[in-house]
Amino acid sequence: MSDCIFCKIAAKDIKSATVYEDETAIAFMDVNPASPGHTLVIPKKHAQTISEMSADELGNLFRAVSKVAAAIKKALNPEGINILQNNGSAAGQVVPHVHVHIIPRKSGDGLLTPWKPQPAGDELAEIAARIKSAL
Ligand code: 5GP
Ligand code: ZN
Repeated sequence: MSDCIFCKIAAKDIKSATVYEDETAIAFMDVNPASPGHTLVIPKKHAQTISEMSADELGNLFRAVSKVAAAIKKALNPEGINILQNNGSAAGQVVPHVHVHIIPRKSGDGLLTPWKPQPAGDELAEIAARIKSAL
């Protein structure tokens, strides 16, 4: 996509601090990191959300995520790592090109506010059945 910032990064038309690249994916440092080492991994081929990607394409993307997360663990030794991937603006997606956040964490950094767990209601079984029948 010609006006997509992450396509431009993948094509090297825009500079990024790239840490990993293979045939289908590229990983670079987030320009506004949540924590030191915050890295983004993207497919080179444009897709807005994971619904537009095949299982093989997602497999390739997450193989790259696994490599980069292991390198972050080795290089920076964070206490924890979040793997985060937003689909749609309601889910917090700002850049409309699939990207996986790898976010190094330390205890008490308060970066990601956890949701408030609620006991499952009566609808749980019905929702599970709807998902199951859609598979
Ligand atoms: P989203 O909210 O869409 O899941 O996350 C988009 C991420 O992309 C943000 O963390 C933001 O800092 C990062 N970002 C946006 N534009 C650029 C850019 O031009 N270069 C880099 N390296 N990161 C970017
Ligand atoms: Zn794109």
